[in-house]
Amino acid sequence: MNEDGFAGCLVGQALGDALGMPFEFMSSGSISARHARVVEFLPSPDLAAGQYTDDTKMMLCISESMVERGHIDPQDVADRFVAWFDTGDLRGIGNTCLESILRLKSRVSWRDSGSSGKWAAGNGTAMRIAPVGLLDCQDLERLRKDCWSTSIITHNNPEAVAGATAVAYVIARLVTGDLDEETLLADSADFVGESEVARNLFKAQGLLSSNTPTAEALATLGTSGYVVETVASALYCFLRTPADFVTTVSTAIMGGGDTDTTAAVAGAISGAYNGVGNLPAHLVEQVEDSERLQRLSRAIFYMARSKKEV
Ligand SMILES: [Mg+2]
Repeated sequence: MNEDGFAGCLVGQALGDALGMPFEFMSSGSISARHARVVEFLPSPDLAAGQYTDDTKMMLCISESMVERGHIDPQDVADRFVAWFDTGDLRGIGNTCLESILRLKSRVSWRDSGSSGKWAAGNGTAMRIAPVGLLDCQDLERLRKDCWSTSIITHNNPEAVAGATAVAYVIARLVTGDLDEETLLADSADFVGESEVARNLFKAQGLLSSNTPTAEALATLGTSGYVVETVASALYCFLRTPADFVTTVSTAIMGGGDTDTTAAVAGAISGAYNGVGNLPAHLVEQVEDSERLQRLSRAIFYMARSKKEV
């Protein structure tokens, strides 16, 4: 377990989110017509350069809840989603999260507030799950349970839960120094079990092994807001260039579609592996709430370590 990986994960997510933010919903072709790579913060019509979006807002709700409560308390996480919603600073919140939070506000329990059905297989839970991967990095059965409970608050859908679980599982492996590039995708697919998420992870492995050109691979895996696509594409981008955070995140953005989320997930994963010390210093300094993210990651590190010792 290394502290630098914990900070790299949360800061890396915010960096990916903020770098991808100006390109949300643009096609791969229209991004590449303007940029060869995306390696610096840019503004959007709604947000300033370096600001993150709803992905990191919700990830912060989970991080702050776990630090205050000492464990995952889904009721407290749900309360924080509502408190965030009430600030009005929603930054591109997805419909599934919006509808579920409205149900929470009308006093529906966190167990029943989440949307279900096939339209609830969005990436709104994979995008916020990183701190669960950190806290539960040495207890994979607790990780599985915490992924489920934090996910169903908004996304009561087996693919959405599987996608979040795959992301948290990978982060847990990486911060415990357990990267086997050859088996990571198959192991995460095995961990989440029979699902579309697992099938697309195997497809990503095939594309990596066959050295398919990146743009073609991402078009095959998909980069929409569908969690099955997001998780496989983010992991594909990481495994193309495991030691190169900036290229991983830029590749995720150049794939187009839900760029802030694909890059946020890829950034959390790559940051967990590379550590905050290997992220570009000027971006770490400029990203919104950098200090807050690093402070939370330290607190989660000490909690994860003491859980191991208990
Ligand atoms: Mg977003």
